[in-house]
Amino acid sequence: MPNILKIEFSPLTPLWTGNIDRDSAEPVVSGLLGSLRWWFEGIIRGMGGYTCDPAGDEKDSSKKKCLFDGKHIEAVCPACRVFGCTGLSRSFRLDVQGLEALPLFFICDPRVFVSHGNWLIRIYEGFRERRSDGTSFGFNNSQLWATSSAKLLFTPNSLTLAKRGLNAEQLTNILYYLLSVISKFGSLGAKGQNGFGQIALDSETSMSDWKMQARQALNILVEQFKDANPDSAKNARQNDPDWFSLDQFFSYTYKIPDAGVYQRPGSCRVIGDEKTFRQHSDRFLPCAFDIRYRRSLRNPATQRGEDIGFRPYAKNSLRRSGSPDYEELVKALGSPAKDGDRKRKASRIFVSHLYKQKSTDPEWSLKVWGALKRTWYELFNDYITSSEMFPKAKIDENATFAWEDWK
Ligand SMILES: [Zn+2]
Repeated sequence: MPNILKIEFSPLTPLWTGNIDRDSAEPVVSGLLGSLRWWFEGIIRGMGGYTCDPAGDEKDSSKKKCLFDGKHIEAVCPACRVFGCTGLSRSFRLDVQGLEALPLFFICDPRVFVSHGNWLIRIYEGFRERRSDGTSFGFNNSQLWATSSAKLLFTPNSLTLAKRGLNAEQLTNILYYLLSVISKFGSLGAKGQNGFGQIALDSETSMSDWKMQARQALNILVEQFKDANPDSAKNARQNDPDWFSLDQFFSYTYKIPDAGVYQRPGSCRVIGDEKTFRQHSDRFLPCAFDIRYRRSLRNPATQRGEDIGFRPYAKNSLRRSGSPDYEELVKALGSPAKDGDRKRKASRIFVSHLYKQKSTDPEWSLKVWGALKRTWYELFNDYITSSEMFPKAKIDENATFAWEDWK
């Protein structure tokens, strides 16, 4: 029997893993694998290594996907050595236990209820109903949740480990490390930019223990690939600057004693299943979409309405400082289109829902992370702590991350 690595975790916000087919767990697993690989790529690139993009550009020889010829494992990038590519299976099997479907819902500031409802039903396959008391929104999709712990079960593909230059212990260290990074600084599964996938590992072993051994194992993969694929070679493969990398990464977790409009009974609006919202409103408040996109603009002709949301905030602030970065920032923020996580240009700021580490916690947590210029996340920080959002928010210094502090 191969040694199965069992990682127990508690979702702090629901997971999004693609449309759920009730007869099969496959979409769930493939959604999780996609996000594990995405973080793995970010770590390797942050370490100065190369990994290919699974959506690679076959016409551009510097960006094409890996292909294993059965002999030269060093020609396969570190991510494909672990996650597989054409000619090479994945180094482990993943099973998930303990997650259950929960009706989908979001909450928002009442001022943007209709515009956000319309966006969200497009992104998450919902519908609109007109009732006598106004418009309401519903969804055909679910999200995943666990009232107690859920489990990720990694079964190493023992027969192929030697072929890829890994042993079971190295693989275990790498996977644990990956989950540690995700739980502390990012999110698990798809749609992390819209609040899904905040998790806590149930038995968090001190990260430094795993970190050293995992990084040693990763370094070997990075160096072997470099030796076999020198930058000077014809057709050298290079990371695209638009690919996700932790080398410009930051992650902050805020502690928020007063979640304002989102926590006062009756003051926020629910998009989707209202009953489920009430059942879970002591654990998470799904307002990430609102935090990123809350937006309404003053009509310049009539002067009606008001400027609210990050975009007008950033615009005004950058204009005041004479910075030319505004258009670039808007690009980095993306638009609320139907964007898969693979479409990386779409989003560079990720925002969690508001959540509690434990239901008895007096404060809400909010995680903000991304890969962008320091001036931009400082600006986003100003916005989060502004009177418009959460003026009492404080950064939790124990849960702050920047890659340069870490390598
Ligand atoms: Zn590859």
